[in-house]
Amino acid sequence: MSKYSQKKFDAVALFSGGLDSILAIKIIQDQGLRVLGLHFVSPFFGQPGKLDQWEKSYGIPLMAVDVSAPFAKMLCKGPGYGLGKILNPCVDCKILMLSRAKKMLKDFGASFIVSGEVLGQRPMSQRKDALNIIMRDSEVNNILVRALSARHLPPTDPEKKGLVNREKLGAISGRGRKEQLEMARNYNIKPVPTPAGGCLLTEKESAKRYLPVFKHKKNPEPADFYLANIGRQLWNNGHWLCIGRDKFDNARLMELAGKNDYLFNIVLFPGPLGLGRPINNIKWLPDIIESACQLVSRFSPKARQSNRQIEIMVQKGEKREEILVWPGQFEQPAQWEEPVWDRESVKTLFPADQHLSHAMAGINGDHS
Ligand code: SF4
Repeated sequence: MSKYSQKKFDAVALFSGGLDSILAIKIIQDQGLRVLGLHFVSPFFGQPGKLDQWEKSYGIPLMAVDVSAPFAKMLCKGPGYGLGKILNPCVDCKILMLSRAKKMLKDFGASFIVSGEVLGQRPMSQRKDALNIIMRDSEVNNILVRALSARHLPPTDPEKKGLVNREKLGAISGRGRKEQLEMARNYNIKPVPTPAGGCLLTEKESAKRYLPVFKHKKNPEPADFYLANIGRQLWNNGHWLCIGRDKFDNARLMELAGKNDYLFNIVLFPGPLGLGRPINNIKWLPDIIESACQLVSRFSPKARQSNRQIEIMVQKGEKREEILVWPGQFEQPAQWEEPVWDRESVKTLFPADQHLSHAMAGINGDHS
């Protein structure tokens, strides 16, 4: 439950933490209107841990909105408007966020939505299609105030009704940042966020981690994608092993461990934690468990240098057993492979991607 659950606002806004979303809200707040910023969170985007800091820095009431489940569902089903350059379903993502924002209006007595999109920030031939589709499918046509570019766009309901003074809205267009930076100075916005790219789905390095999850798991859940974000990812014929790289990864793996997962802990030597997640509830056979133990032990220098067999505690639910391995003998994890980015796999996994929708072609993530 949010601390703002019982409060009333005039508008809700999409708040990514980027400069454009801050400015859009500032423009509306400046007119004496109350705006609640909605910060959407999923395994692929969102920094809910920063909300308090942002609230203090920018004077904007903020609330985290977890869209992990519907987002994962949309992605697994195959986004209706296809993918951008990597795995980013930006059009479907924005439709999802705006639809959720629209549903939330009544909870706060609000009547319109604010966003920080800037007209023409992307090539128009692509953006115009996408913007129209987003508006149409999320049914926010008359209630979405794009505060930074509003005077280039037709008046919306709150402007027509006089709730929002159109003359005080922005008329920014294009890709430059000059006007935004000047506005940031005028609003005394500190710190000015550095331009962010898109979410984890827009980067090959992070997106490649999700490919085996899509490939092997029937209905991946948000918890699977959160797990794919952590540590070293290794796959062996549908067996999924995650190995922590540091104590933060190890702690996160402990948090994410489910009752069917295997935990691999090196006994007596410092080293990483391993987490094995059976896919589609298929139990791991002893040889897979042993090779996972060997693999985990490879990442403990002290265990390798010990020149002796070491014990790995393997835990699954209440069950525990110790397995002995020779860490030094296992030089190359032949069967275990790290995910690689592979466009062909994407085409197989997301057939719609073969005929990228015109709206999505070339979009490399737009997070405003
Ligand atoms: S880049 Fe932004 S709009 Fe695109 S999918 Fe990621 S969060 Fe959604």
